[in-house]
Amino acid sequence: PSRAEITYFGAGPALLPTDVLETAAQALVNYKDTGLGIAEHSHRSELAATIINEAKADLATYLDIPTADYETIFMQAGGTGEFSASVYNLVGAWVARQHAAVVAELGGADATDDAVVAALRKRVETGLKLDYIVTGGWSLKAYQEAVRLLGPEYVNLAADARVDNGGKFGKIPAQSTWKLSPDAALVYYCDNETVDGVEFPEFPAVLAPRPDGTGPVVVADMSSNILSRRIPVSNYSLLFFGAQKNLGLTGVTVAVIRKSLLAPATVQPSPALMRKLALPIPPIVLQYEIIAKNNSLYNTLSIFDVYIAGLVLKRLLQIFPDKVDGQEAVSKKKADLIYAALESNPAVYKIVPDKSVRSRMNICFRVTKNGAVDESEKAFLKEATAQGLTGLKGHRSVGGIRASNYNSISLEGAEKLAKFIEAFAKA
Ligand code: PLP
Repeated sequence: PSRAEITYFGAGPALLPTDVLETAAQALVNYKDTGLGIAEHSHRSELAATIINEAKADLATYLDIPTADYETIFMQAGGTGEFSASVYNLVGAWVARQHAAVVAELGGADATDDAVVAALRKRVETGLKLDYIVTGGWSLKAYQEAVRLLGPEYVNLAADARVDNGGKFGKIPAQSTWKLSPDAALVYYCDNETVDGVEFPEFPAVLAPRPDGTGPVVVADMSSNILSRRIPVSNYSLLFFGAQKNLGLTGVTVAVIRKSLLAPATVQPSPALMRKLALPIPPIVLQYEIIAKNNSLYNTLSIFDVYIAGLVLKRLLQIFPDKVDGQEAVSKKKADLIYAALESNPAVYKIVPDKSVRSRMNICFRVTKNGAVDESEKAFLKEATAQGLTGLKGHRSVGGIRASNYNSISLEGAEKLAKFIEAFAKA
């Protein structure tokens, strides 16, 4: 089939707008009449710097990122790399805060090294905690990575959505039940669980900054719903996302970081001190302040990936004069259409997550007969594929159907799927 005949609902890498790909294909051969393709130009060239800076600026415009307080960096280790990077960097920042407090407590410059280390060790032993809100497969992986890097004693499973839900994901535990630590190095959650179809309906109020401006160090994985709705950026210390769903190609990961976490000498403790405390330091390519200081070019970055992200952002800004709010309205409309088709045939379709936390981006459901999943689920996939609706198979760990409703799925594409869902149920 031709590209135009397919609506691809795969969970990632996801569909990219065809006009973006056509422009990029030309740029790969000869970028702006330079005789060289975009991927062949030096990442240190002025042309590369322009691409990075424009993509950053357009992202900030589209999402209303307060750039006086937040830095955006491009990294390369994927969402998974950020599971590790967030641990390393924010444990470092926590230790740096404790270090400053200990030095003040012990009389500033008079404090001897040994006394400082002893006091810090005690603070680490009694106070270092990373809180994880686990609501699906990806936040679970992030939690497991923190345990692997630090040891279980420092990592707190503050909420586990499988408890009281039959051992399965599909709900978000009430915030009043979250067991948050005082002064946690970070509180982590995944805004949209791609595998389980669970999305936070809004920023969790319990993590909001306090009136005096202080508050928890909030980290969020937004890999699969970034650019699809407005986010209160100022509530986060760090948010990150892989590009390969709503932004661009696989290969570049974006981190938006509060600038106060990036001041080198004051924020990250020395490797020697961290060794004395038996805490890990980040590999240099995962150290935020190093990447930020070098405007994402500490080492070779795929400028082509950033270029594609830039094209996607320019396209979004062109389509939606009201920026992310415009896309948010369309995303909701598309998701509502698909969920409505499923809901109007309750004898056939069972939506997996609880209604209160249904993802607008990854719509997960089962096809059933007489209340049980049977061969009709396979038939659903086969017939959908025959009609050009592809990529609908659920994640291998949970099965079922998953319609990924990312930004590049058009309203017409969502309508086509909704109609098919209706027609299949009738048949
Ligand atoms: N976080 C979320 C929400 C994801 O959906 C994914 C991948 O699909 C990841 C993290 C992992 O990303 P990567 O494969 O880029 O490491």
